[in-house]
Formats: sequence, structure tokens, C-alpha cells
Amino acid sequence: TLNDLKKLSVLLLLSGLVFSFFLTTIIVHNLKPIANLTTIAHNISINSMPTIDSSLLARSDEVGELANAFQKMSNNLADDIQQRNIAERKFETLLESSSDATVIVDTDGIIRFFNKQAELIFGYNKEEIIGKGIETLIPERLRKNHTSMRQEYMASPQTRPMDDNKDLYGLRKDGSEFSIEIGLAPIETTTGLLISASVRDVTDKKESQRQLVHQANYDLLTDLPNRVLALDRLSNAINVARRKKHSIAVMFIDLDNFKQVNDSLGHSVGDQLLQKVSRRLLDTVRANDTIARLGGDEFLVILPEVNDLGAVETIADKLIATIRHHYNIDERELFIGASIGITLYPSDGDDPEILLRNADAAMYQSKNAGRNTFRFFTQEMNAKLLYRLELESQLRTAIEKNELQLHYQPLYDLSKNRISGAETLLRWDNPALGKISPDVFITIAEETGIINKIGDWVLREACHAAMLWNKQVNYDLHVSVNISAMQFRGVDPVKIVSDALNASGLPPELLELEITERALVDDNLNVKRIMSDLKRLGVRLALDDFGTGYSSLGYLKRFHFDILKIDRIFVSDVIIDPETSALCKAIVAMADSLNLTVVAEGVESAQQLQFMRNLGVSLVQGFYLSKPVSNAEIIHLITQRNSLIRPV
Ligand code: C2E
Ligand code: MG
Ligand code: MG
Repeated sequence: TLNDLKKLSVLLLLSGLVFSFFLTTIIVHNLKPIANLTTIAHNISINSMPTIDSSLLARSDEVGELANAFQKMSNNLADDIQQRNIAERKFETLLESSSDATVIVDTDGIIRFFNKQAELIFGYNKEEIIGKGIETLIPERLRKNHTSMRQEYMASPQTRPMDDNKDLYGLRKDGSEFSIEIGLAPIETTTGLLISASVRDVTDKKESQRQLVHQANYDLLTDLPNRVLALDRLSNAINVARRKKHSIAVMFIDLDNFKQVNDSLGHSVGDQLLQKVSRRLLDTVRANDTIARLGGDEFLVILPEVNDLGAVETIADKLIATIRHHYNIDERELFIGASIGITLYPSDGDDPEILLRNADAAMYQSKNAGRNTFRFFTQEMNAKLLYRLELESQLRTAIEKNELQLHYQPLYDLSKNRISGAETLLRWDNPALGKISPDVFITIAEETGIINKIGDWVLREACHAAMLWNKQVNYDLHVSVNISAMQFRGVDPVKIVSDALNASGLPPELLELEITERALVDDNLNVKRIMSDLKRLGVRLALDDFGTGYSSLGYLKRFHFDILKIDRIFVSDVIIDPETSALCKAIVAMADSLNLTVVAEGVESAQQLQFMRNLGVSLVQGFYLSKPVSNAEIIHLITQRNSLIRPV
């Protein structure tokens, strides 16, 4: 061992000294004491400390001096060896108790020391590995490289701390490989240079690093590449396509009505559906095409090498067909559609972000074209998209900048011959974009969630305005406010309504909330619960635009509406189309039987008004009576009641 080696070298040196001394004394002195001294020297040389005869030590001649010198030497040596032993034992215990595996090799790469921890991670016993070459612990494929690195290191050995930048591997006795980190330190010894290597098993650490990298690049739910990796792949594809002069197709896929599945059947079903869609998409494309999930129900397809548009169309058709095929989830049969937008490199753009945006714009066009279809990007779409983005950003600050205003359209009660209330209609006038129709900006507000903030503001303003109107007359005037489906999904919509009532002091029965049938399609428990909570507050509920959507009587019953508003499209046809007028009669009869109040919207002519009067519909609203007007104007109208209605 290391220990023995050191001792041996010290002893060899000593015995050399002794031997030369012996030669000189043999000439000068008699042989007996010299024989004694020889034995002593021999003993020292074999490491057993001699007892020197006291008669020799007592001599006053040179032999005595020599014996005394030997005595001293022997004592010193014994001390020395003991000290060394202690130091070395301490060193070894230290290495043994270290949490790192320690392997010490000599300059030839022969293992000289191997601690417990090293036994544990490599699976070898000290006895079987000491004396073997260090390369035993290195995987075969890396040995050559290791040997040359080791020799390089030996040329100028330095302390080298552990670092995790290198990809190093160890080889266990059972032949398995594992990730390691190594720190090196040279040790000078009397017998030469030794190298101590601290070895750490970093399998777990490497695994968690690998997982982190995976998480940063792949979608958790579907394990598809995420947006980051998709953009990276796209920019690589662009580099290749630029050199090889071919095209790339990028497809943006958005599932149709996925939100409804998620809301009505729950997230678990939604998640399973997304996983199944992912698998089908993967099965439809070739191996070096990329399918990525951008988030939610949005997927991206990258076809890195396309040579004709026909092929792209075929793939888009295939993707839509495979998505539309039915799904079985939780013993339920489900269907879903997809809208696809396609953009091409290099004709539409040469930057990954731009291509992605183009594909997104084209996807919107597919949605507008009736879904379940695909559209290629055109520059004109780009302009539309930019306009939309501009609208969105302006809309975000519209309240703060005082650009929103409320107009009120009176409702006239034919039986009482007076205004019974008014509908609140939002107006937006932006300095840069001009007046924008609510049909346009309300949709954007809904899609972006801005509607919650705006809707809250509308409610408060409208309740406040209605309080002022009611101070002008001696009968009750109600105000109606349009509520978007999105507002039902916001935080505590019932509280928002009651807060607006409390802040203004408006009695709840004077507030009507108008909800469109579209809002009720997301027919889940939440909507029903919110609606009954609202009714409990005392506010009245109106089903808006009846006749345009599903016109389901079921909704009327299920959600306990108080008012039914017949849509103006319907009203405009009652005079010219007998079928519409028959339907209108049926609706009114049915509403009566359900105890619902009917309002006719969009009355534009005297004939339409007369038709409604004849049907027994007493509440009417429309341009024939009044356009939506400002708050000041509506106060003027209600205080001069009869100036409003025209002769019928
Ligand atoms: P709506 O709730 O059905 O409102 C009635 C719409 O018909 C209003 O359009 C009104 O100006 C228009 N109108 C009224 N009488 C006549 C008529 O005789 N002839 C014709 N051709 N049109 C008439 P407007 O103000 O452009 O609003 C459009 C839609 O925007 C509203 O339809 C409503 O759904 C939505 N909206 C307006 N304000 C708000 C709001 O504050 N919140 C929410 N969520 N939606 C709103
Ligand atoms: Mg309305
Ligand atoms: Mg309406």
C-alpha cells in the first residue's frame, strides 16, 4: 500500500547509511561490538526497533558514540514512523468518510486507493480494483479519449474542481454506464505523484436537467413540441429551405367550438380530446413534418419541404377530415371541427413570427367562412389583422380615455301611451379610428376578455342614469342593459350587478338584463345558477334577438325569462311575408301562455307598429319611435312624453 511504500523508502535510505558506516568501522575497530551494531542496523532495516545493549552505550570510544547515535536514530525513526502512520490513517479515514467517491491513481493510471463510496457507485471491492488501470471504470467507447486526456493532464497536473459542463460517464462492474462529475487534485508523495479523483454520480441531476429542457420545449398535456420549439424548428427549416430553394408551408389549426366541449363536459374530457386530436394529427403527417401545440386548442403544422400547392391542400383536407372523425371519450361520442390557416415561405414571409401571424390571420378567415375549412393567407388579411390588433389595443384604454359613451333607445308602451324605459347601447368614438359599431368592437371585447371591464362600467353608468330619469317622472322607468355571455364567465357576475344597484340606489325591479341566445348555448349549470341568483336579486331577465338563433322554447322555460324580445329581422318581415307574420303570431301566443312580456325590436314603420298593436304586443322599440339617443336627450323625451310617438 501507499503506507508501506513510504516506509520502505525511508528504510532503504537508512540502511544505506548504516552500511557505509559499517564499512569504515570494520577497518578501525574490533569485530565484536561491530557485529552487535550490525544486528542493530539490520533490525532497523526490517523495521523492528532494536534494544541496544547498555554496555555498548556506556562505552566512551567511537563504538559507544556510534551506539548512542544509533539509539537516537532508532528513537527518531520510531517517532517518525508513528507520526506518519497517524497522518496517513487520518488521511485515509478522511477519504473514507467523504461523501464523494475517491479514486487515487498513479502516473500510469493504476488505481492505488478506492474508498467506500467508490465501491458503492462502481460496484467493485477495493481488493479487486486496486492495482487495475483507471480505464476499467470508463465505458469502452470513451477509453481511448480518456487515456489521452489523462496523459495530457499528467503533463501539467492541476487541481480541477467538479464542473457540470462536461458530459462524463462511468462504467459499473455490472457493465452499466452512469453520468458522473469529476474533480481532480494532484498529491505529491515521497514515491512520486499521485492523482486523487473525486467522483460523483449525477444520474439524478442529469435526469432532472433533461426534464427541465423537455418541459421548456414540449407541451405537458400532449407531449407535442410547444411554441418555443415550433418557432425554433421553423427557423431551422427556413435556413434549409433558403439554401435548397424550396417552399415551406405553415398551418395554423384552431379547433371549432372546443370551448363548449370544455365548458359543458369538463376539463378532463377537453384534455382527453386534445390528446386524441394530437395523436391523429401526428398520424396524418410525415415523420419530418412538425406538429406543435401552441396552447389551448391551437396547433401548428410545419411542412418543411413543399413543392406544389396541391399537396398542401390535400394535407389540409386530410387534417380536417381526421379531426372531424368521431371521438369516444368516457363512453360519450364527440365531434369537433377545425379551421386552418395556411401561409407559405418564402412568398408570404421569411420570418418565423411573421409566418405564424399570417397563418393565424388566414385561420380567422376560415372561421368566418363557416369553419371546418382552410384558407391560404393573402396580404389583404394582413391589413385586416393589423386593423383588428389596433382596435384591440385602443379598446383596452377606451374607458380611461373617455371614448365610450352610452346611448339609450326608448321603449314605448302602446297601452299606456308613454315611454316605459330604455335600452342601453354602447358607443365608441376613437380619435384615430373614428366611430366603431358595437357589433364589431363588442365581439373583440368578448374575444379578449375586455368585455368584463367594459360591461361593469356600462352597468354602473346605466343604473346611475336610470336613477336620474326616475326623478323626472312620477311613474317607474326601467333601464335594460345588454350582458354578454363572457360576463357570466367572469368573477362573480351576480355581485357585479348587485354592486351597481347598490352604488346607484336603483331598485332591482327597474333593471332588466338582456341576454342573447348565443350566451345560453354554453348551456352548463353555471349559467343556470347565475340566472336564478340574478332573479333572486329582483332584476328582470330578457331574452334578446329572439328568432335569430336557435329560437328554442326550451331556453325560455329553463332559464325563467321575464321578457322576450322579437328580433328586428323578424319584425321587418311581418308585413311582406305571410309566413313570418304567422310565426310572429305563434310566438306571441306562446309567450302569453308562458306569462312572458313581449317586446318588438326594430320597429321602423307605421305598418309594423300597427301589426304589433293588433297582435296585442304593447311594448315596442325602433327607429320609427326613436333612435338611440344621449342621456340628455332621453331626459328631454321622457319629460315631453307625447312628442315621441308619431300618429299611427
Ligand atoms: P341589440 O341588443 O339587439 O340592440 C339593438 C340594436 O338594434 C342596436 O344596435 C340598435 O341601434 C338597433 N336598432 C334599434 N332600432 C332599430 C331599427 O328600427 N332599425 C334598425 N335597423 N336597427 C335598430 P347597436 O346599437 O348597433 O348595437 C348592436 C348590438 O351590440 C346590440 O344588439 C347588442 O347586442 C350589442 N351591444 C350594444 N351595446 C352593448 C353593451 O353595452 N353590452 C353588450 N354586451 N352588448 C352591447
Ligand atoms: Mg339588446
Ligand atoms: Mg336585440
